[in-house]
Amino acid sequence: MSQSTVSVADELLADLNDAQRAAVLATHGPVAIRARAGTGKTRVITRRTAYAISTGVVPADQALVVTFTDKAANEMVERLRRLGLPDVTARTFHAHALSQLRHFWPSRHDGRPLPEILDSKLGLLVPLVRRLPGHYRFTAAKDVADEIEWAKNRRIAPDAYEPAAAGRSTPIPVDLMARLYRDYERAKTRADRLDFDDMLTRTVELLETDDEAAETVRSRKRWISVDEYQDTNPLQERLLELWLGDRADLCVVGDEDQTIYTFAGATPSLLTSFADRYPGARTIDLTENYRSTPQILDLANRLLAGDGRTKRLVATRGPGPVATIDRHPHAEAELDAVTARMRGFIGDGVAPAEIAVLVRTNAQLVPVEEALTRAGVAYRVRGTRFYDRPEVRGAIEIVRRSVGDATGPALATAIVARWRDELGYRDGDTDRGPETRERAAALDTLLGILETLLQSEPAADRAAFLAELDRRRADERDGAAEGVNLLTLHRAKGLEWDAVLLPMLEEGSLPVRSSAEGEALAEERRLLYVGITRARRHLALSWAERRDVRGKEARRRRSRFLDDLLPPPRRHVVQLPDAFEAHPVRARTTAVEEAAVDPRFVALREWRANRARADGVPAYVVAHDQTLIAILDADPRSLAALRRVRGMGPAKVDRYGPEIMDVLDRTRSAPEDS
Ligand code: ATP
Ligand code: MG
Repeated sequence: MSQSTVSVADELLADLNDAQRAAVLATHGPVAIRARAGTGKTRVITRRTAYAISTGVVPADQALVVTFTDKAANEMVERLRRLGLPDVTARTFHAHALSQLRHFWPSRHDGRPLPEILDSKLGLLVPLVRRLPGHYRFTAAKDVADEIEWAKNRRIAPDAYEPAAAGRSTPIPVDLMARLYRDYERAKTRADRLDFDDMLTRTVELLETDDEAAETVRSRKRWISVDEYQDTNPLQERLLELWLGDRADLCVVGDEDQTIYTFAGATPSLLTSFADRYPGARTIDLTENYRSTPQILDLANRLLAGDGRTKRLVATRGPGPVATIDRHPHAEAELDAVTARMRGFIGDGVAPAEIAVLVRTNAQLVPVEEALTRAGVAYRVRGTRFYDRPEVRGAIEIVRRSVGDATGPALATAIVARWRDELGYRDGDTDRGPETRERAAALDTLLGILETLLQSEPAADRAAFLAELDRRRADERDGAAEGVNLLTLHRAKGLEWDAVLLPMLEEGSLPVRSSAEGEALAEERRLLYVGITRARRHLALSWAERRDVRGKEARRRRSRFLDDLLPPPRRHVVQLPDAFEAHPVRARTTAVEEAAVDPRFVALREWRANRARADGVPAYVVAHDQTLIAILDADPRSLAALRRVRGMGPAKVDRYGPEIMDVLDRTRSAPEDS
């Protein structure tokens, strides 16, 4: 090793803790890093790769890092580039498999190029479903597509499907399903197409049957790391084995509590059983969280404790602002609060790109986008924008093409009928696969837009509806390149922001099915865990007691997971949650929802509302909820003491001080009396 590589290598180790350093130094053989959110897993695999290359363990072009999304792959390449390593390949399983298929396909198929990859299975499936006997032809094609994906992710071929699916709740009887699966595969071959799952299944077949291809692949990449390994499915695991051959230079990192793709066949048991399957494997735990404040980690710990977990995330960062849980009387109030909070964060110096709103389904992004557009807050949607999603484009195309001249409510009825026929749309049915649910939610959202239009234009026709959708699509396109981030919880894994907002935490949203139980319910909890642990400093959870569902106002119940997050009922805001008693950092987490039942808090909010109305400004301009809580916590007896409360500058004390003191004096004995 030359002098300069020694110093580069030393630098790569410098700002790591002992466990992280041990993981980076373990450059040979199988290694598993099983650790919780924000403990530096991704940082470690980046560093470990850089370290192995700079110490000559592996040439840069023979190292492969497998990430969960293309975006994560790009970020990894970028991070490695910053560490001076331009040649490292970081890719998803699909992208890496696809490049191998592309390379080997022509020479194995008489010179023909790789068939095109289908956008969606639906084009081939819909006609097959429509030919099913009896009422089965009304089955949603997407449910069937989900079921085929289920089988393919588990390497279950059509012939093996029937016994494998025995006991499953399938969209149509198992024998029919097996036949449909077979017909679908045939139709696909006839059309000379591959689907998304084939990228993996065909590569596995290639490498299992073609030794020469397998050898070539193995000689090109011989040192492999996998991030987010808890979400690997058996098909991907098989691919990984084939890529490795008899080598053991594999490092996997993951957190079983962040498994959120079990619907796609992911199983955290691959992570938990790694050491059994790879003899001689080293397992390394990382325990310190570098991402979030103790306030945020306290909520994450409570959430896991609600599922019987005792292991805790330990903060290295100092305390920050309270993490809030807000209840709102209706959805509009919640959205106003979301935009107000964002403005507040930006006012406090948080960059818009460091703020994220995370929601459960893509359709839930739409009302947030609209609220931000109205409020003039720049945003960008991560992932495919709502109006660009294939299911949304398809549904609008049906309206454009095949809905007649009906107007007003009859237009809605006509649209629902067409969607039912062509897309298998079923109103109010919740027993569906995840993609089907996404699509149904998208259609519900489009119908909600129509309902809103009909309120202002009761005789609106198809052209008016399409024009309204065009206008909204244009608004969405205007979404800025820089701005606050809007994305689903699924897309948020691995990422982090200074401020995270998690709205719509209601039964039926998260958990997405209020009837969810067992593993499905546990996965919903993990999604919230992923959401909470994305935040570095600010975290705002909220829900609304009423919201429009399919154009009708419905009562909502707060998500059961919030029960675990809220401290037990107490009459005073001024109390440290138990979790902090043992904590060295005397930080305070006060849930706004708890505070909302405190009469003094209610009185302060009432004063604020009146004052805001009188001054013609939004309430948050007068004072944030956190400021009101801080005032109650401090319970100042003089203007000088009030001035010392966080969020109360001299100007605010001048303007509002006497009124606030008045409210405090008036209500001081109230909690004891209640
Ligand atoms: P997740 O489970 O969410 O994927 P992770 O375990 O991959 O999280 P990272 O994203 O690698 O965690 O790290 C979380 C944050 O902590 C990052 O901002 C990272 O730069 C920082 N970090 C990690 N280790 C250290 C360290 N030793 N010193 C300072 N900062 C660190
Ligand atoms: Mg990570």
